[in-house]
Amino acid sequence: MKRVYMDANATTPLLPEVFEAMRPYWMERFGNASSIHLDGQQAHTAVDRARATLAEFFNCHDAEVIFNSGGTEGDNTAIFGLLRPGDHFVTTSIEHSAILAAAERMALHGVETTFVAPQPSGLIDPAEIQRALRPETRLISVMLANNETGVLQPVEEIGRIAREAGVFFHIDGVQGAGKVPLDVRRFGCHLFSISAHKMHGPKGVGALFVRRGMPVESLLVGGSHERRRRAGTENVPGIVGLAKAAELAMLSLEDGTIDRVATLRNRLEAGILQLSGTGVNGALPIVCHPERAQRVEGPAFSFSSDIPVLRVANTTNIWFDHLEGEALVIALDLKGVAVSGGSACHSGATEPSHVLMAMGLDKTRARASLRFSLLKTATEADVDFVLKVVPEAVEHLRAISPVAAGTAG
Ligand code: PLP
Repeated sequence: MKRVYMDANATTPLLPEVFEAMRPYWMERFGNASSIHLDGQQAHTAVDRARATLAEFFNCHDAEVIFNSGGTEGDNTAIFGLLRPGDHFVTTSIEHSAILAAAERMALHGVETTFVAPQPSGLIDPAEIQRALRPETRLISVMLANNETGVLQPVEEIGRIAREAGVFFHIDGVQGAGKVPLDVRRFGCHLFSISAHKMHGPKGVGALFVRRGMPVESLLVGGSHERRRRAGTENVPGIVGLAKAAELAMLSLEDGTIDRVATLRNRLEAGILQLSGTGVNGALPIVCHPERAQRVEGPAFSFSSDIPVLRVANTTNIWFDHLEGEALVIALDLKGVAVSGGSACHSGATEPSHVLMAMGLDKTRARASLRFSLLKTATEADVDFVLKVVPEAVEHLRAISPVAAGTAG
């Protein structure tokens, strides 16, 4: 059976170039990057080269890149590594659980957190971040792009607020990396987390930008790896794969690949919105690239605000009234389409998405929402297939749903 994977925000497959780049580091060049012999030096050189690529990706110095196990570790490091009893922490109610659960843990250690709510569009208003600050605020953490809606947050403005207030600023960049150009200097952040597996790299590896001189305590202690900021033998194949994925991601932003993904996403979204009782959660349908942002006007879209809300290229989150989201996920899976309802980490749970609820959706509509997130390798044929399958599944489920009388279509 043909299968189309539209759950890229959960994870992505390796690109063949990434797989090939990693290949020698499993067996031939297996050395420990800390060893002084030739085998060790080969590994060390590979890690150094990868660090230079990541520095280019982030726009920072090599010494400011720490390799780690991924987004969760980067997020946890920012919070556990910086906050101490009596500190105040400002974040948002739409963050990934790697931030939210860490904030919950810190509450047990005398750190109070303010969770700033988004506007109905999914956008965090920088003025609300400003309002949440207190004299004892030590850290702000806001995501670059939301994993469920794809909405890009105004991190530059928040960076300015952090600088003026003398507060550290961490960005969870996991869902933005590879989809928009990164520049930690322009963002004005002190820490920035990414994860390889969200950008066609391997699972279990990521990187954290830590601005030079930051007093971040390392989560793991032991050896003196990563300038004593992260103990543990380096995952050399993973790091090489992450660097290759970052290199290809930079290329994709330049060569039109990401614009092509945006065009496909827009066609998918417009096609699905032809169905009655549907709508987009979060943001206006705007093409991803902040520099080349353009609205996609059409009868299916209505603009309720003049505030430009940008979204990453690959994501659309759509509500289907009179449907149970989980039922639609299963129906689509049986027809060969992989999508997700809420975030992947919560799938299987019956609670509606905390992100959609924070945006003001009622429980029923939040539960009736699906996230479609396209791979970088998505094709016209993938979109055609999904546009054929979704109406069939929706019509069928609505026809058998006791709450859907008269709404099929
Ligand atoms: N932050 C965001 C926004 C995410 O979407 C995810 C994964 O879904 C993470 C952090 C966690 O990343 P990882 O899977 O690398 O631990």
